[in-house]
Amino acid sequence: MNADVHPPGLTQRVLREQVAAVHANAPAAYLADLLTAQTLGIGLFVATRRWQVLLWMALHLALTLRRAYRRYERSPDAAAQPEYWARFNARNVLLRSCIWGLAPWLCVPPGRNLGLWVMVIVMMMGGCAGGALSLAVLKRNIPRFIVPSMASLTLALAWRGDTVHLFLATGCLLYMCVMIIFALQHHRLLTAALTMRFEKEALAEQLSHQIAATQRASAEKTRFLAAASHDLRQPLHAIALFGAVIEKKLQGSEEWHHAARLMDAVGTLGDSLDTLLDISRLDAGEVSPQIRPVELNPLFLALNNVFAAQAADRDLQLRLLATPCWVLSDLQLLQRLLSNLVDNALKYTPRGGVVVAARARGPLVWIDVRDTGIGIAHEHLGRIFDEFYQIGNPGRDRAKGLGIGLSIVQRLSRLLGHPLQVRSRLHRGSHFRLVLPAVTASGVVPLAVCPGAALPLPQRVLLIDDEAAIRQAVTGLLQAHGVAIDAVAGEAEAEAVLAQASQEGLPVEVLLCDVRLADGADGLAAAQRLRARSGSGLQVLLITGETAPQRQQQMLDAGLQVLLKPVAADRLLQALASLVQHDAQPVCTRS
Ligand code: ADP
Repeated sequence: MNADVHPPGLTQRVLREQVAAVHANAPAAYLADLLTAQTLGIGLFVATRRWQVLLWMALHLALTLRRAYRRYERSPDAAAQPEYWARFNARNVLLRSCIWGLAPWLCVPPGRNLGLWVMVIVMMMGGCAGGALSLAVLKRNIPRFIVPSMASLTLALAWRGDTVHLFLATGCLLYMCVMIIFALQHHRLLTAALTMRFEKEALAEQLSHQIAATQRASAEKTRFLAAASHDLRQPLHAIALFGAVIEKKLQGSEEWHHAARLMDAVGTLGDSLDTLLDISRLDAGEVSPQIRPVELNPLFLALNNVFAAQAADRDLQLRLLATPCWVLSDLQLLQRLLSNLVDNALKYTPRGGVVVAARARGPLVWIDVRDTGIGIAHEHLGRIFDEFYQIGNPGRDRAKGLGIGLSIVQRLSRLLGHPLQVRSRLHRGSHFRLVLPAVTASGVVPLAVCPGAALPLPQRVLLIDDEAAIRQAVTGLLQAHGVAIDAVAGEAEAEAVLAQASQEGLPVEVLLCDVRLADGADGLAAAQRLRARSGSGLQVLLITGETAPQRQQQMLDAGLQVLLKPVAADRLLQALASLVQHDAQPVCTRS
């Protein structure tokens, strides 16, 4: 494991853990030791009637009682003083081993007593093996526990001098060596396991700090983007509207091309802003999908409407194959995901075309987006979903994209739970496959896809916006399209205009209202009050730069149409037209 992750005080922590383990085992170990010694003592006394046996038993009993008393008397918190308890334990272990070492000298009478020797050897070897397991946790215990007792047994046997005793002494010596090696190995394993556990804990802690830092940074980024995008949307909204007025006025003149280019640039800026905001909202978990049955045919039709002109401009074939499939998904998010894939497919295909097809596969539906484009080299395939990763755009030419499209696709595919697969070969084209759950069509009401046709505009509109520049811009735009408009800054003036308009016999048809008014006044509440007072004939269209989902939900719950800033002139006109044409369905649209 990496040396960098050695947590501080590792040796001390390991020792503390080892002492705690020995300490916890101690009562059982004392009892087992006492029982073994006293059983052996009784057996030997019955066989030999030697007072030395009683002396040995008494010594052993005294030591055990002393150990138990000291343990009880001192603080039981071994973890707080690991060094003290390690020394205490080592002393006890040494004393115990010495007392056991006295047994062969005191308890076996001189002469040939093979039966007694076997009893002593078996009990001492058994005790040694059992104790080695529990005491080897601490390395210093190993020699102290094994050597005095086993060496003394070996010596006592060798002291008798005859072949049989010498043979038994050799066996005991070998046993002692093997036990030491075995106990050391056991100790190493236990220590390694403990060290690894602490290193893992340290790693997990480091990781959780890093995750927390990343989450903080991500939340900061999201907050910054949301704030920046709101502040940028306001002026951009004004620029878009003024630009549209200028473009209309300049139609037919030489300067018109400049105005048209300016509007293209404003459009691109708005798109970039939307993309950045989308990604920050997805990261912040602010987007919650509304999973419902979605019919693919109308969705493909909508995609075709969006991309047909782009494909035709570039002499590419775009085929969206009709399909009877229905899937469980969120219509808007799925449309956004597929749009990104089709947009990329067209962008990276110089000749040939793009095919979008859906196929039912048992409980699943595959949506394939294939192109005959430049393809992606194998080494880039793993990175194309990273934020701002682009192949072949070192100069970061904005015309070649931001490098965010596929990271949005990936976030959406995760959010919707639709796995995404990609296969591509350089110069042979790319193939993206989205896997969705299928749903049967019976009993399912098709969802509407936004219509695109422009409709007649209202005759009179009332605008409430606290920014003079916006009032001017919208007034210019609507007047240029023959719509009578009154532009005011607040609710009180709006109420006066509504009253006067109905007296004049040209009532206001649509109230266009900014959601955030001067001094924190709530445009949504103001619009609802004005509508309630003037009767249900007044249609309301809210315009907002606020993207917080709760706020948007409030607007939708109020049954009002909402446009997100910056609103392109076409989109504003379209929304006004559809309001007077239909009883409004609540929709939330980004232009
Ligand atoms: P970009 O805005 O650059 O298109 P994306 O995140 O959408 O950013 O894509 C990342 C990179 O993946 C692109 O720069 C492009 O090189 C590559 N890529 C994406 N889709 C395709 C495709 N259909 N064919 C070839 N290359 C693609």
